[in-house]
Amino acid sequence: MKIQNVTIAGAGVLGSQIAWQTAIHGFNVIVYDAFEKGLEGGKEFHKRFAVLFKEKRGVSQEEIDAALARISYTTNIEEAVIDADLISESVPEKLEIKKSFYNELARFAPEKTIFTTNSSTMLPSMFAKETGRPEKFLALHFANPVWDANIGEVMMHKDTDIQYFEAVLEFAKNIGMVPIPIHKEQAGYILNSLLVPLLSISQNLYFTGVSDYESIDKTWMISTGAKIGPFGIIDMVGMQTVYNIALMNGTKTNDKAMIDRANKIKAEFIDKGKMGISTGEGFYKYPNPKYQDPNFLK
Ligand code: NAD
Repeated sequence: MKIQNVTIAGAGVLGSQIAWQTAIHGFNVIVYDAFEKGLEGGKEFHKRFAVLFKEKRGVSQEEIDAALARISYTTNIEEAVIDADLISESVPEKLEIKKSFYNELARFAPEKTIFTTNSSTMLPSMFAKETGRPEKFLALHFANPVWDANIGEVMMHKDTDIQYFEAVLEFAKNIGMVPIPIHKEQAGYILNSLLVPLLSISQNLYFTGVSDYESIDKTWMISTGAKIGPFGIIDMVGMQTVYNIALMNGTKTNDKAMIDRANKIKAEFIDKGKMGISTGEGFYKYPNPKYQDPNFLK
């Protein structure tokens, strides 16, 4: 099964990165967004990625121009999917939006098209029925930024046909990702199954006064050889996401300590504009955070 024409649905933070990564690797890309504003945002992202790839990643102007020439943009779903071999969906993380998107997509996509979702917190089986083709539907999950954190978590649900699973693993590799096969549905895939508990316990150690964040990071870095500790990772992920996860999980499980922790993150960081690397300060100050100093681990 040949994959050459790829449609990206949702031109936001992740969709625009996936579109860029796919185009720069030689595939034809159509970016679809339900809203003109979303599509314009995607075009702006692509202008920025063009500069980033030229200045920071050593990609030539010719390659960038060729990638841009391979991307087209539309708000018309029928036009977007007319000859799609694969669709990568990055519409907002709301079940009703995903369901109505797949209902609509199922009406227009040709039979050959493989559907993939980039949902971070939902399982493919939650909207497999709406796709009308559960056997050709699975998750292909990216991390942010797609090109640096280049794992592609490929996850089947119980009705996915193995041949499409293999085709998507191959596709992920062809767009520069390291494909990670996930044979059963797992909330949080592999990365977040590991990371969320680590970050959660680290925050508990800090917010309950067991130790300070630098010592917790040092412990992790020295003992595992990692280049970054849990609090460095929290700055990278961003306080808003860390807060959202703590509040969501705390509310779901009625865990008062977790809700308290979410409130502390809000009061001590978010309300003070310390959102992490994106604003130059979280637990550490950027650029040049202390944990990158060779003396940090001494
Ligand atoms: P975003 O809000 O930046 O972008 C969503 C885009 O979808 C917007 O441009 C919006 O106009 C468009 N949209 C809304 N409804 C639509 C519809 N019905 N059809 C088509 N387009 C529609 O969101 P995001 O951060 O890019 O997240 C999108 C998906 O990617 C989510 O499922 C999220 O879990 C996943 N994801 C996000 C990240 C991240 O770091 N942001 C990482 C991995 C996966």
